Amino acid sequence: MKPNPISPTIPFDQDGAHHGFLRLPYSRDDSAWGSVMMPITVIRNGDGPTALLTGANHGDEYEGPVALMDLAATLDPAEVTGRVIIVPALNYPAFRAGTRTSPIDKGNMNRSFPGAPDGSVTQKIADYVQRTLVPLADIVLDYHSGGKTLDFLPFAAVHVLEDKAQEAASVAAMQAFNAPWSMMMLEIDAVGMFDTAVEEQGKVFVTTELGGGGTATARTIGIAKKGVRNLLIHAGILKGTLETGPTVNLDMPDGDCFHFAEDDGLIEPMADLGDAVARGQPLARIWAPDRTGVPPVTISAKRAGLLTARHFPGLVKAGDCVAVIAVEV
Ligand SMILES: [Zn+2]
Repeated sequence: MKPNPISPTIPFDQDGAHHGFLRLPYSRDDSAWGSVMMPITVIRNGDGPTALLTGANHGDEYEGPVALMDLAATLDPAEVTGRVIIVPALNYPAFRAGTRTSPIDKGNMNRSFPGAPDGSVTQKIADYVQRTLVPLADIVLDYHSGGKTLDFLPFAAVHVLEDKAQEAASVAAMQAFNAPWSMMMLEIDAVGMFDTAVEEQGKVFVTTELGGGGTATARTIGIAKKGVRNLLIHAGILKGTLETGPTVNLDMPDGDCFHFAEDDGLIEPMADLGDAVARGQPLARIWAPDRTGVPPVTISAKRAGLLTARHFPGLVKAGDCVAVIAVEV
């Protein structure tokens, strides 16, 4: 396969804290020999495990970038055994635009793996992550939240994996992260995901959904900051004791967890995040946006459980995910 065009401006194999960029040549109207400059920090102290920590895989999700900017600025190499690689904004062009996908090529980073060294900007970044960063790592944490269109109960998550030892190691890392909720997550669209790419390389992988609405809160940022330190302690990279509180374990057993709109309109939520809902209970109603006197369409729960995610904006379109229900285990 062709070499990837991205070059790091800092070393990966030298002790100390190194702050720099992944530089991707990107020739365009306003910069003929210009580049995309993705911030990266590598903090290394001797031999030991490597953690790869990523945020803004989707550009409008903010707990990860905030927690990772903070970690990159404050982590003392003397505290570390091994190496921490921090990329606060994996889809950096999307992050700078405040959008889910890249403004350059409309690339959704989490549907672009394994990427391509001669593809679009998003595919080139994915290929670099796939063939250069992930192979360096023993454990990978990729932060997500709901972005502008979804809002979540704050949870850390892992997937059911064929390799049960890898799954157990990922569950242990998720429990160490210690979000208020811990999820065995079902993906409805797993092809091209970073998650899948990392898991296929046999790595321990934890992801999160920590909030949403295109912003972050003090509470959800606190969860993100505590979680990453706990994860690094768990991995043997940081010394110290885990800071733990209660977590509720959740499962998504099948596709009935997901509820989609079949109508455009004005959405009336009828349950809030964290509410226990019964099967058949109305989750939301959709009102016609363009006339009065028309009864609303009701979206009812296909299973009992906890309302775990909801559509965020006040207007909804046919095909939007309106609600996700998970089951307490
Ligand atoms: Zn995301």
